[in-house]
Amino acid sequence: MLPLCIPNISGNEGKYLAECATSTFVSSVGPFVDRFEAETRDATGAAWAVATSAGTTALHAALHYLGVGPGDHVIVPSLTFIATANAVAHCHATPIILDVDRARWGLDAGLLDEVLTAQCSRDAHGTLRHATTGGEIKAVMPVYAMGLPADMDPIVEIARHYDLPVVADAAAAIGASYKGRPLADMGADLTALSFNGNKLITAGGGGAIISAGLAGGRELKHLTSTARVGNAYEHDVVGFNYRMTNLQAAVGVAQFERLNEFLDAKARIAQRYTHGFEDLPGVQPFPSVEDSSGSHWLSGIYLPDATTGDMAHLRKKLEENGIESRRFWKPVHMQEPYRNCPHLLNGNAASIWENVQPLPCSTQLNDAEQSHVIEAVKSALGRSR
Ligand SMILES: *Cc1c(COP(=O)(O)O)cnc(C)c1O
Repeated sequence: MLPLCIPNISGNEGKYLAECATSTFVSSVGPFVDRFEAETRDATGAAWAVATSAGTTALHAALHYLGVGPGDHVIVPSLTFIATANAVAHCHATPIILDVDRARWGLDAGLLDEVLTAQCSRDAHGTLRHATTGGEIKAVMPVYAMGLPADMDPIVEIARHYDLPVVADAAAAIGASYKGRPLADMGADLTALSFNGNKLITAGGGGAIISAGLAGGRELKHLTSTARVGNAYEHDVVGFNYRMTNLQAAVGVAQFERLNEFLDAKARIAQRYTHGFEDLPGVQPFPSVEDSSGSHWLSGIYLPDATTGDMAHLRKKLEENGIESRRFWKPVHMQEPYRNCPHLLNGNAASIWENVQPLPCSTQLNDAEQSHVIEAVKSALGRSR
């Protein structure tokens, strides 16, 4: 079976892991953690980077640091991995779920403006609250879906107007740029990354919080490493044990050595799919826009007018041809824990969920394998329509 997206572990990972074992530095401090944070900083144009145990814990720590707490709201897009909403729930807060735009599949700036204007207002103390729930609006959390940045300039402008901090979920977007700016500098106050096994580069599992500004780096390192003061088991606040281990960082450092190679491979795969399907009516590639470049974390096709039957037929034919045909993110507003959250929708996330098919895009995918996928899609669609 041709897998959708598997890690490429063929560099120095084993060598660096052996160094960890020999040195006995296998746990939550060690030279690879420092190197990993430096690599993350350099690759994203950040002023600092704090490595964490996962992307989810990076998001949770960022929201906690910004003071998101019980009863509060954080605005998130519906088209995302569940971790975005879970990070809000882990703060005992509730997401307000907005739909995404057609161009980038990112948080829709028009809906952001609309929800803040029409569903929220300031109370007598000047606190911005949701009209129905009474919860305070604490932050806006755009997601860089498929590794392509959301339209950050308008999103950040609206957030600034309402004095709301912006936390970007850039889990799979390492290597992306927005209007010439690198990942840390797209306008968010804090940006979270994931180094899970299915991402562009992996640490086995892991995450990072980055920022272009100096504020927050020391505090977040402190908060995510048990808030320890000195060496005598003293802790000044309730911290989290969200540290990345030296073992994870060793894998991550080896992966950073190949970041550009992987980004090139992913871009090439995306381009070949785009080219391969350009004559197929009703078939669109994943979004690309003039002013930004994504990481091309995942590639695939979007068939906006296909029926449920068409999509089922496509998936069946892919499986018959030995091609993994998993579905993509089910929108957050349709997920059991988040069904009753405030939301404002335009149908895009639901349509993308119904009509998207991710296609194999591991960095190891060769031309013959990709041609096989393209032919399988063409023949499946040829017969079904
Ligand atoms: C992968 C991912 C996460 C979560 O990262 P983990 O490291 O798996 O916790 C969060 N958000 C998005 C958009 C992701 O793709």
